Amino acid sequence: MPEPVLPSDIADSPPLAEGQVLAVDGRDFLIVTSDRRKRLGLTVERDGTLTLRAPVGCEAARAEQFVRQSRAWIDSKLLLRGRHRPAHPTREFRDGESFRYLGREYRLLLVDEGRAPVRLAAGRLRMDKVVAAEPARARRDLVAWYTKSGLRWSRGRLQPWAARMEVPEPTVTVRDVGNRWGTYRPGEGDHGTMALHWAVFQLPAHLVDYVIAHELAHTRVSGHGPGYWSLLKRAIPECEARKEELDDLGRRLWLGQVSQQV
Ligand SMILES: [Zn+2]
Repeated sequence: MPEPVLPSDIADSPPLAEGQVLAVDGRDFLIVTSDRRKRLGLTVERDGTLTLRAPVGCEAARAEQFVRQSRAWIDSKLLLRGRHRPAHPTREFRDGESFRYLGREYRLLLVDEGRAPVRLAAGRLRMDKVVAAEPARARRDLVAWYTKSGLRWSRGRLQPWAARMEVPEPTVTVRDVGNRWGTYRPGEGDHGTMALHWAVFQLPAHLVDYVIAHELAHTRVSGHGPGYWSLLKRAIPECEARKEELDDLGRRLWLGQVSQQV
């Protein structure tokens, strides 16, 4: 292929350097160079930052021109990113604050009953006043409540789902599993361990069931290939719709963020 003929002002501009940040019309682009690359390429990262991949020795002016030509594409990608950005809310530990458990909303009631730090009774989530006064402790005790209640609830669901899917019943734990809702780890013989995120118990029961069934399917098939989905589909025919619902609601779950007290 013949070398493209560049206008002289482009030919004279300095080459881009790996790791450099190129600013174009108020936007920053992280430069990643590669000697295997012939053309320029743009990526909008998950966090909305922009990466410009360029051949080694590519002139800055050529990159700027490319970025300007790609503006409509970048705008549309950023818009989409914004729409899908997680919007996990923050909460305060005050009377009337709402918390969800298995899809239902419960108001927080600060009490002075000298009982458990957190408990659900008479349609209210009751938290000890002393606990509520210390946000870090209140968070810890509330997460512990979700963990304990969620574990108890999921133990009752596991056996019927495992029977329905004809898979062995794993040990189940509830904890913070980071940016996933559940994990499955194979163990000795047929007995693996399923971990569920404490935050999933805010979801409606049919979505927690989806998370449980999703992980149960991993006892037979690891990864998410066609074999995996056909197994899950036999248990939950509408699994694609559930996954979408989970993706949508999951972005808005409370993950333990506490508002700054003033
Ligand atoms: Zn999976």
